[in-house]
Amino acid sequence: MRYRVLPVTAFQQNCTLIWCDSTNEAALIDPGGEPARLLEAVAEEGLTLKKILLTHGHLDHVGATAELSQQQSLPIEGPHTADQYWIEALAQQAQMFGFAPVEGFTPDRWLEEGDKVALGELTLEVYHCPGHTPGHVIFYHPESRWAQVGDVLFKGSIGRTDFPGGNHQDLINAIQTKLFPLGDDVRFVPGHGPESTLGEERRTNPFVAGRAG
Ligand SMILES: [Zn+2]
Ligand SMILES: [Zn+2]
Repeated sequence: MRYRVLPVTAFQQNCTLIWCDSTNEAALIDPGGEPARLLEAVAEEGLTLKKILLTHGHLDHVGATAELSQQQSLPIEGPHTADQYWIEALAQQAQMFGFAPVEGFTPDRWLEEGDKVALGELTLEVYHCPGHTPGHVIFYHPESRWAQVGDVLFKGSIGRTDFPGGNHQDLINAIQTKLFPLGDDVRFVPGHGPESTLGEERRTNPFVAGRAG
């Protein structure tokens, strides 16, 4: 497994280009915007784009989904169906965040806890981690000890829970019962900002430090 983090939009949202290094089949996780730049990276690495994966329905994470999916005939997997209302409200989200209007889309596959996502010879595990949004999922590759966690957990912080449908206790529970048990050595790409490890956050993140792992 290999990956390259490509921050996009004014929110510097981490879109991750992830690929199987035996087949060169790739996926874009959370293509929030700047589709041309994302495709450039795919071409630079010599990859074949196979699918789009979404952690949750916020505009800065899904903004380029419809365009890329149509243009490249890519299936969309994720998030959990509980985020459908965010995806249906993309027009209002664009207005709210001052983004140009974006096209709507319907995921080809809604994801649930325990689902697996195939990419070449890789299998990513899906965990449902509500709190930031009710349908937020994270993607985990056990062999690489690597996860993309969207807006659940950041280096030194956690996701906002003041949006409609957010729930602070759910978010803490998800971090404590689903992320930390994956192991201290697991490296993760958050939805925004620098990468970290689950162990570093368990020890030093003021919002969740000291909780059982
Ligand atoms: Zn978000
Ligand atoms: Zn975000």
